[in-house]
Amino acid sequence: MTEDSAITKVVVIGGGYAGTMAANRLRRRGGIDITLVNPRPKFVERIRLHQFVAGTRHATVDYGTLLGEGIRLVVDSATRIDTAARAVRLASGHALDYDYVIYAVGSTAAIPSTLPGAADFAFPIGELEYAERLRARLDGLPPDAPVTVVGGGLTGIETASELAEQGRKVTLVCGRILAPTFDAPGRRSLARWLSRHGVAVLQGTEVAEVGPDSVVLADGVVRPSALTIWTGGFGLPVLAAASGLRTDPVGRLLTDETLTSVDDDRVVAAGDAAAPSGQPLRMSCQASGPLGAQAADTVLSRVAGKEPAVINQAFVGSCVSLGRHAATLQVARKDDTPVKFYVGGRTGAMIKELACRSAVQGIRLEARRPGAVIWFKGGPRPGREAAARPAVASS
Ligand SMILES: Cc1cc2nc3c(=O)[nH]c(=O)nc-3n(C[C@H](O)[C@H](O)[C@H](O)COP(=O)(O)OP(=O)(O)OC[C@H]3O[C@@H](n4cnc5c(N)ncnc54)[C@H](O)[C@@H]3O)c2cc1C
Repeated sequence: MTEDSAITKVVVIGGGYAGTMAANRLRRRGGIDITLVNPRPKFVERIRLHQFVAGTRHATVDYGTLLGEGIRLVVDSATRIDTAARAVRLASGHALDYDYVIYAVGSTAAIPSTLPGAADFAFPIGELEYAERLRARLDGLPPDAPVTVVGGGLTGIETASELAEQGRKVTLVCGRILAPTFDAPGRRSLARWLSRHGVAVLQGTEVAEVGPDSVVLADGVVRPSALTIWTGGFGLPVLAAASGLRTDPVGRLLTDETLTSVDDDRVVAAGDAAAPSGQPLRMSCQASGPLGAQAADTVLSRVAGKEPAVINQAFVGSCVSLGRHAATLQVARKDDTPVKFYVGGRTGAMIKELACRSAVQGIRLEARRPGAVIWFKGGPRPGREAAARPAVASS
């Protein structure tokens, strides 16, 4: 609470799935002044970026349709959280005073700087501006030009399949294995679809070098590639570290199980950028919305002088789209470990579309009726096991 009034100022940094959900949920209680800082004036549906690239869908939503009344949107980038002065410093030179900060800066597209040619010639997809650049490049290519998608995780599969359905000649270079987070039956169903749609799936090899019109594989084989799309993993914004707050090895803000920074109880994290107990949940839209809601609840508990609750949420699986008419839902236990059961084909596609829509509709519901959003709970905390996985996660 600020010294001169009964108003508590909360600055939410990052207007993605976690940040917009958090901002809306803070309206459960009166007397909260809510400011959302985001570099773009529109919300980006990152889970639609592969569709945007293929030209099958737009991927932005007007914040006016998402944010509850009274939430102030500041289009700017936070450059530092000045915890001593309790102010968020912005790229424009302005600053926002706060009583609490919700740190929801998400993740970024990432290209390995050490891989020869990757930074110069590969096109990432994970952020709007990269997707726009990629779409422009694709539009300029002849329809039969060879396209290489690097990364056999869910983003790579979704991108490869979307382009294959457009008639593109696609090679998917998986690294070790296609869809490593899927169980064997689900993986086989993905492989069948990709094969039927002409995608060359290369498992057990990786890209060692990217050129302007080729890729070199680890075994030295050179393959033509007029366009190389990089989906090999996500990076993290550096804001937490730049603000002197402790992070995990890849840059997520380190928090306790209430999402509160281990360094400062005025800073609460949510979404891809949060590392509760150093054991983050899988980077996903599925996890980010509920984390955003719980981050808001943590702040509201502190404002009310109550002990915040520990996070409680469960995964249900992961659903990967295969073009516009199919998808594979890999069902998982609550801790995100896959089971043998999957749902494929058109039913899978319907579930996937529903999940994508619900992510945005959930934010709108929370704007209309703060506190209304619910999510799956229970089971062992997901992420406990994920901590053992590679630091840079694929979606
Ligand atoms: C092509 C693709 C497909 C995907 N498919 C799925 C899927 O099917 N299912 C799924 O669960 N997940 C999927 N994901 C992953 C999912 O999109 C992310 O995990 C999710 O967006 C994370 O939500 P978030 O709110 O934490 O961050 P984001 O959605 O990344 O939002 C963070 C926001 O913070 C802003 N920001 C960053 N730095 C600053 C700063 N310094 N100051 C102010 N604002 C800042 C960013 O610009 C952004 O607007 C996919 C991702 C991609 C790229």
